[in-house]
Amino acid sequence: MGTTSLGSSPFVIAVVNQKGGVGKTTTAVNLAACLAASERPTLLIDIDPQANASSAYGITNAERQVYDALIDGSPLTQCAFETELETLHVVPAGRDLVGAEIELVSIEAREYRLAQSIQALGDAYEIILIDCPPSLGLLTLNALTAADAVLIPLQCEYYALEGLANLTETVELVRGQLNPRLEIQGIVLTMADGRNNLARQVEAEVRSHFGEKVYRTRIPRNVRLSEAPSHGQPILLYDIHSKGAAAYVKLADELLTQLALTSPPRKPPVLPNPQSSIQPGGQDEPTP
Ligand code: ATP
Ligand code: MG
Repeated sequence: MGTTSLGSSPFVIAVVNQKGGVGKTTTAVNLAACLAASERPTLLIDIDPQANASSAYGITNAERQVYDALIDGSPLTQCAFETELETLHVVPAGRDLVGAEIELVSIEAREYRLAQSIQALGDAYEIILIDCPPSLGLLTLNALTAADAVLIPLQCEYYALEGLANLTETVELVRGQLNPRLEIQGIVLTMADGRNNLARQVEAEVRSHFGEKVYRTRIPRNVRLSEAPSHGQPILLYDIHSKGAAAYVKLADELLTQLALTSPPRKPPVLPNPQSSIQPGGQDEPTP
């Protein structure tokens, strides 16, 4: 797989697939943790009204969230939470975001709101992952406009390739009209089951069509991955010895090799008004 030369920090990756339930959130949550564990200051932004990536880090009913950045222009660092991993911060989503898709329509530069917020962060983080909703609406469009690249989780089943064609068309459109930087970083096969014939056929087709863009690492179906969110922890903290953890560590290694980061590892920014997902009661009553 080729390497991406990093022009400037941060490198922004949107985790996208308009198909529901393919492992976007599981990938965003766990990849973010693995990248942070390699001491790269990482920010995970949840831009899905379902807020699954937020609750996967134990964050619910956050006082300040991505909505405030998108609609009111609040700085992202004011919306971010600290996590158990020192190098990982999370900007959560919440129910407000359901309305944001409609509110955005009447806002100036509506496709660029997230890009502007991320730009204002400067080089505080090295890597930013954005967990997108299962649609190609204005929220996903904001992620694609803010991103350097997309990471596509793909479940090997019958209609996967058809959905992938729509998604690559959307990436082309966004590249042509809103964000000339946008690239496909890679496709990651999720919930893989090597014993399933159809899955093997689909995998072979995806690899022959997309070649080096498909990561060598497959994420296996692993029950520990589906349990971890209910404990508010990424797999790395929930069960580091699981197959799921090993797979996401390998995927992070492949991604880091692609990104060829050369700067020495460093610490993330100090948040101005830290909200913490790890304080007792902190998830329901963020610190003022
Ligand atoms: P949505 O489109 O609704 O946002 P998604 O693409 O983000 O969904 P996930 O929420 O990550 O998908 O995964 C869907 C379901 O599958 C979840 O219950 C999750 O726990 C489970 N799951 C995801 N990946 C795996 C895996 N590798 N092994 C076992 N279960 C998994
Ligand atoms: Mg999701």
